[in-house]
Amino acid sequence: QWGTLKQDLLKTVGQNNFKTWIEPLEFADLTEGAVTFHVPTNFFGNYVSQNFGDLILHKLTSNGQRVQRVHFKVSANSLDRPAPRPVAEKTDFVSPSVTKDSLPGAPLDARFTFDSFVVGKPNELANAAARRVAEGGPVTFNPLFLYGGVGLGKTHLMHAIAWDLQQRRPDLNVVYLSAEQFMYRFVQALRDRKMMDFKQLFRSVDVLMVDDVQFIAGKDSTQEEFFHTFNALVDQNKQIIISADRAPGEIKDLEDRIKSRLQCGLVVDLHPTDYELRLGILQTKVEQYREQYPGLQLADGVLEFLAHRISTNVRVLEGALTRLFAFASLVGREITMELTQDCLSDVLRASERKITVEEIQRRVAEHYNIRLSDMIGPKRVRTLARPRQVAMYLSKQLTSRSLPEIGRRFGGRDHTTVMHGVRRIEELRVQDGQIAEDLELLRRALEA
Ligand code: ADP
Ligand code: MG
Repeated sequence: QWGTLKQDLLKTVGQNNFKTWIEPLEFADLTEGAVTFHVPTNFFGNYVSQNFGDLILHKLTSNGQRVQRVHFKVSANSLDRPAPRPVAEKTDFVSPSVTKDSLPGAPLDARFTFDSFVVGKPNELANAAARRVAEGGPVTFNPLFLYGGVGLGKTHLMHAIAWDLQQRRPDLNVVYLSAEQFMYRFVQALRDRKMMDFKQLFRSVDVLMVDDVQFIAGKDSTQEEFFHTFNALVDQNKQIIISADRAPGEIKDLEDRIKSRLQCGLVVDLHPTDYELRLGILQTKVEQYREQYPGLQLADGVLEFLAHRISTNVRVLEGALTRLFAFASLVGREITMELTQDCLSDVLRASERKITVEEIQRRVAEHYNIRLSDMIGPKRVRTLARPRQVAMYLSKQLTSRSLPEIGRRFGGRDHTTVMHGVRRIEELRVQDGQIAEDLELLRRALEA
């Protein structure tokens, strides 16, 4: 039973995900509508539950199982499994001339620590993975690949790892730099004919963090060098942490061998913030501002209002609060709702709410009177497939998501499936008056 289901899952999630996350699952039992799987660690369980929980449930129910819940439990016997490979002995081919001062890293921002990082649902996995790496124990996943949109905390987390490691393991050479700086160093070394030094320098690093790696896409020789550096470090079992604004597979003009290397370790995304996380961040910031601006009054509801209205990214949210406090202290007034709206009118206007794929799915499901779970579920009957295609079409039209990203939000479908759906609706829109009308209604409702 579970065996055939696994095969089915392999097709949906792809080889990489399957190997890492599905294969290790052990079926434990099925009672009263709840299936339990054994997992090696809590972290593992959380990850699988978040990312594949719904999918597994779908597969089970569509296979005729009466299941309402899927649980992941750490199995008792996984505690005495052999520990992961230890970190390799520090290699000694590195010339002694490499000292910490000559390391190629960029300076770290003192504000970006784990203490100041507010954790919520959208970033808890990224945070957990970062903390694990920061413990400086044996390398368990390599690389750690963090991705997510602008201002969601990728750089913050990387700096936090670096700060922590410097505290805990001062013996390690920890280097943080942006992909752009990597390229700059590389070009400089080429120009000055110092490639040997360049290679030696980077290969002497114990923990390498490269931020915004999408930057090297399309830059052939930099990619080549990055690939060699990457492989050399992985071979020595040195930890690598990479960030990008999208998943490895979705970075255009990045060599396939690099993409697949980047996918080898743990890939975690920072999801867009939710209301609770934004509120938490604002509250933390206000605590800090209270020291800077003692005596400043903040009216009830202002933070909630901001958390609700500014949903783009954390950087904008922080900027708004900074401006608000500076302005209020300048004019010596309490921060009221009114003052907030005056002072931030441009920011508030610019961050008018954005339509999400999830919202579209919900609206379309309502409109056609089908269940939301069927919208993303595997069934292919026409009565479900058509609304699904409508939702895919609208997602393509009204959001900035790419086809693969949309596919993922529709229960892990392939981008070609999405493309097919979008095309089909484009055709029908011309041929079928009813569909055209539905689309118009839905679009208006969503943009309202
Ligand atoms: P990214 O590198 O993903 O574009 P950054 O790490 O530069 O984003 O974060 C942008 C700003 O938002 C920084 O000032 C950072 O401290 C702040 N920030 C982002 N996420 C959080 C969080 N969860 N808690 C506290 N501050 C955050
Ligand atoms: Mg960044």
